[in-house]
Amino acid sequence: MNMHSLRETAPFYAAQAAECELFAQAFASRLPLLIKGPTGCGKTRLVEHMAARLGRPLITVSCHDDLSAADLVGRHLISGGDTRWSDGPLARAVREGAICYLDEVVEARKDTTVVLHPLADDRRLLPIERTGELVPATPGFMLVISYNPGYQNLLKGLKPSTRQRFVALSLDYPAPEIERRIVQAESGCSEALAAELVRLAQALRRLNEHELEENASTRLLVMAARLAVAGLGLGQAVQAAVIAALSDDAETVAALAEVAAAVLGPLDGHA
Ligand code: ADP
Repeated sequence: MNMHSLRETAPFYAAQAAECELFAQAFASRLPLLIKGPTGCGKTRLVEHMAARLGRPLITVSCHDDLSAADLVGRHLISGGDTRWSDGPLARAVREGAICYLDEVVEARKDTTVVLHPLADDRRLLPIERTGELVPATPGFMLVISYNPGYQNLLKGLKPSTRQRFVALSLDYPAPEIERRIVQAESGCSEALAAELVRLAQALRRLNEHELEENASTRLLVMAARLAVAGLGLGQAVQAAVIAALSDDAETVAALAEVAAAVLGPLDGHA
């Protein structure tokens, strides 16, 4: 497949600024990339888009608090008395020259930094402790990590020694005209509906952000638009896809619904 056809099949990504160029330059310079930004603002989509444009396979790992170095690197599997080594996703990416995307890396166990550090600096080596191997990364390999610097992560933060190995790229919610385009493209809704949902998101984002763990993201707007396109009234779609997703607290939900009604008109008047 040539670069031209790869570009045509890359998943849709509307750039916020020059992040695609920075991504491509980091790849060309063999530098690892840290993408910062709130949940649902387009980090994963950017990585998927760029992997396709650069013609690299993509291996994504959603990090969680139980994820260890062995989960990334691999382990010995025992079957019928035989022991054989099985590469984990990071080892596969290093050998195959894939882009390895570690989503929400601060969630992972601390022992993962031991394997990430030598890969993320000039050495580009993956140490596999269990087998004694030191695997050099294939040229097409790129390490990309994402991180949501929301207040709940303040304590967990990335260690400076990790952070300083990565080129950093910050994303936020897209500017209104870009976000309208995204909502429309991702849901097939009308321009007018996309504009209403983006106005709603802006009003919700102006609320004191400390009252909410996360704010109304582009992802939630896309979900609401899809429900509306499928035939649900806009009020119900916003209630189900945006408001209920933002809080479980009855008082907060009521306050969010009030903001939504102020922007969209009475919520059940939209059926
Ligand atoms: P994150 O990884 O930051 O949590 P995602 O990349 O999964 O967020 O984005 C969530 C959804 O929002 C995507 O599936 C897509 O529908 C939409 N989206 C957000 N930003 C963009 C963008 N810039 N271009 C295209 N779609 C986007």
